[in-house]
Amino acid sequence: MVLSRDAKNVTLSSAVYPRVKARWEQDLDVKPSQTNKTFTGYINDILISVLEKDEFLETKIPGFDLIGHNSKQMFIKDAKKSKIAEIMVKSSKLYCALCKSNDCEHVQYALLRPEITKLKSDTVMLF
Ligand SMILES: [Zn+2]
Repeated sequence: MVLSRDAKNVTLSSAVYPRVKARWEQDLDVKPSQTNKTFTGYINDILISVLEKDEFLETKIPGFDLIGHNSKQMFIKDAKKSKIAEIMVKSSKLYCALCKSNDCEHVQYALLRPEITKLKSDTVMLF
């Protein structure tokens, strides 16, 4: 990636830098054709990917909004139903208490949110 004169510097925290660097090196080994060859380009690719994913969620799944989450639940406001869906782990799967389902649109929305990685369970493998 060639940076233009308008490129800006951003500082990564001491906690983030080694983690991202290790992932970049791993991705270069495992999937070299899909991984940017420069660390700066790799970080830019990740940021663009996150922004595009957010835009996708806003346009393809409109009316949903994550309004809160903790280690056990995600709360998704459903404007169409004027209700709040509570997503949790139940019987080793994601579960929507509103729909009483493992495969409703609230669960699908939750899976696309980065906060899904914060859901924890003592005995469960989500994926
Ligand atoms: Zn649901």
